[in-house]
Amino acid sequence: MRTTAVANQSARILALEKETRSELWRQTVEAIENYAERDDLPLAIETDAQKIRAELKAYDFASPRTPAEVLEFALEFLPRNQIHASSRRFFGFFDSSPSTMGVIAETLAAAFNPQVGVWSTSPGAVEIEQHLICAFGEKFGYERSLVDGTFTSGGAEANHTALLAALTKTFPDFGEKGLRSLDKQPAIYISAEGHHSVLKAVRSSGIGAKFVRSVRVKSDLKMDVDDLCAKIAEDKNSGLRPFLIVGTAGTTAAGTIDPLDQIADVATRENLWFHADAAWGGAAMIVPEMRHLFAGIERADSITFDPHKWLSVPRGIGMFLTRHARVLSDTFHVEPSYVPASNSAASDVIDPFTHSIQWTRRFIGLKLFLTLAACGWEGYAEIIRHQVEVANYLRQELEKSGW
Ligand SMILES: *Cc1c(COP(=O)(O)O)cnc(C)c1O
Repeated sequence: MRTTAVANQSARILALEKETRSELWRQTVEAIENYAERDDLPLAIETDAQKIRAELKAYDFASPRTPAEVLEFALEFLPRNQIHASSRRFFGFFDSSPSTMGVIAETLAAAFNPQVGVWSTSPGAVEIEQHLICAFGEKFGYERSLVDGTFTSGGAEANHTALLAALTKTFPDFGEKGLRSLDKQPAIYISAEGHHSVLKAVRSSGIGAKFVRSVRVKSDLKMDVDDLCAKIAEDKNSGLRPFLIVGTAGTTAAGTIDPLDQIADVATRENLWFHADAAWGGAAMIVPEMRHLFAGIERADSITFDPHKWLSVPRGIGMFLTRHARVLSDTFHVEPSYVPASNSAASDVIDPFTHSIQWTRRFIGLKLFLTLAACGWEGYAEIIRHQVEVANYLRQELEKSGW
């Protein structure tokens, strides 16, 4: 009897009493609802680290506080110490306001807490994510039957995945024997406007930042394909092994799209992996009349796309997509004795932990699924069209005023 009482008591420490919970939820929902309506939130923060740390000093965790007090602190402290990209007055970086269905999905994912490492423990969640991977793969022009991919924490992890996939595909011994077994030093090509997450991936994979070739851009800030070819030829002559070209489809600073079709030609001719980093720009693939801007992306061996940017899905959610169905398994497959495999040779079921960098992970895809299902491709197309119109108007007015 005593053990039951202790168990009940310890369960309550984390789960809380039903009445307490209901009241906390009521306050939370009210605060989120009010937040979406507020126009008075700071767009510049007037504080400093000392002030914030002084407030946090009160939390030494020596004794518990009431959940109500802790929640009140969070609801007061957080908005005061954050820039609010959701504000109607925010004209800064491309941080988006989170979709309501996305915020709801985050709550559900946390509450139901499926283990998305393994198919057999969370088949619904894993299948929802695979369903989205196929839908987005097709949107980017891949043949549905070939599409594979994985959800990631964001674009950086997706680019890292691309690098490892390209290494594994190009150098079959890489996974087993490592970089030092290769007879030639691998080299990578990305424009000077490309994203620096690729540099971090290169460092953490052991390739060495020196072997990332920064390809010149033309005056329109797009990759200069002549310079790309020249650098590849130069490196081959000096004994390196070019293996990966990263083309950016929507650069972070200026939003330009590299000449993807020409890059695909070079990659085919030279037998290199072509990765398209469409982290934010890729969202415009949803708009039928904008798709031509991305001509050639369907020829990419893999694609990075970030729903937490232009699709307004709450952070963090990125996607790695590929048209090489086996490459993720070849790159990440492991067979631990402590995880019951759901993946028999006869089934087409995927255990995500054998398919990605992450292992235990949250249900990343739900917030995209609920948001997209509720607005449809057409809803997103309408939003993106409107935003492009606003941007064009801003540009015209700036040009008129001689900016
Ligand atoms: C934002 C961005 C990334 C990095 O993605 P995170 O989601 O921040 O990890 C990579 N590439 C491009 C082009 C980006 O704009």
